[in-house]
Amino acid sequence: MSNAKIIDGVVVSKQLREEVGRRAAALTAKGVTPGLAVVLVGDDPASAVYVRNKVKACEQHGLFSTLDRMPASVTEHELLTRIRQLNEDPTIHGILVQLPLPPHIDSHKVIEAIAAGKDVDGFHVANAGALMTGRPQFRPCTPYGVMKMLEAYGLSATGKHAVVIGRSNIVGKPMALLLLEAGATVTMCHSKTVDLSSLTKSADIVVAAVGKRNVLTGDMVKPGATVIDVGMNKNDDGKLCGDIDFAGVSEVAGHVTPVPGGVGPMTITMLLVNTLESAERAFRDGTVRPTT
Ligand code: NAP
Repeated sequence: MSNAKIIDGVVVSKQLREEVGRRAAALTAKGVTPGLAVVLVGDDPASAVYVRNKVKACEQHGLFSTLDRMPASVTEHELLTRIRQLNEDPTIHGILVQLPLPPHIDSHKVIEAIAAGKDVDGFHVANAGALMTGRPQFRPCTPYGVMKMLEAYGLSATGKHAVVIGRSNIVGKPMALLLLEAGATVTMCHSKTVDLSSLTKSADIVVAAVGKRNVLTGDMVKPGATVIDVGMNKNDDGKLCGDIDFAGVSEVAGHVTPVPGGVGPMTITMLLVNTLESAERAFRDGTVRPTT
C-alpha cells in the first residue's frame, strides 16, 4: 500500500511559472524583455527535444529566446566566437549551451567562455565557486528545482540528514551544497560508496541522481523520509522511469517524487527563473538596453 504523499513537480512548476510570467511582463513594461540564448550543436534527438521545450517555455512565459543550431562539424573556435557575441549582446540575459557537445569540442572550455553573469545553468567555475562559498548567483537548475519542491511542500532541510546519491557537477555536487546551505547534514554517495543502504536508512531526505533503475528500494528507506528521484531512465517497455523503485519506496517514505511529473518539469522552470532574475539584476545594475 502506498503511504507516501506525492510531491507534484507539475503543480509546483505551474505556480513558479505563473510568477515568472508576471515578473517578465513587469520588466517588459519597463522596456526590457528577459532573453535566453540557446545553442544546440549537432543533431542528438534527445538534445533537440530538450532545446525545443526550453524555447517553448520561454515563449509561453513572456521571455524571448534565440536558438542557434550548429552542425556537429562546427569547430570549437566557431562555437566560442558565437558565445562571445552572445556575451556582448545586451538583449541576452542568459546563455545555455545544450550538453553533451561533440567529442572534438572541449565542453569545459565552452562553459568557461560563457560570461558568468549570463551562465543561467550555473555550471561556470565562478558560479560553482560562488555556490561553494555561500554567495550563489545562479544555482544549477535541477538541484535548485529540488529545493523549490521541498519548500513548496513545507519540508525543511534544517537539521535533517540528507543523502545525495550521485556526485556529478550538474546535479549531485550542487545538490549537496544547496542542502548544506539549507542547514542539512549531508552525506554524498557514489559508485564507490560501500553499503549505500546503511547510509540511506538513516536519511530524512534522499536525493537519487544516478541514471540507473532501482538504485533505491523500499527496504533502503527510513519510514517517513522524503525521497526525490532525479533519474531519467527507460523501463523494459521503453517508458520513462526514475532511479527509485517507486512502488516499494512509496510504501515506506513520507513524501516521494514521481517520474515523470516530478523533478523533470522543475528543471526548465528554474531555467526561466534564472533567466528572469538575470534580466532583473541587469536592469537594476543598468547594464541592459531596452529591447523594445
Ligand atoms: P552522471 O554524471 O552520470 O552521474 C551519475 C552519478 O551516479 C555518478 O556520480 C556515479 O558515481 C553515481 N553512481 C553510478 N552508479 C551508482 C551506484 N550504483 N550507486 C551509487 N552511485 C552511483 O549523471 P547526472 O548527469 O548527474 O544525471 C543523473 C541522472 O539524473 C540521469 O538519469 C540524468 O538523466 C538525470 N537528470 C535528470 C534531470 C531532470 O531534469 N530530471 C536533469 C539532469 C539529470 P561516480 O562518480 O563514482 O561514477
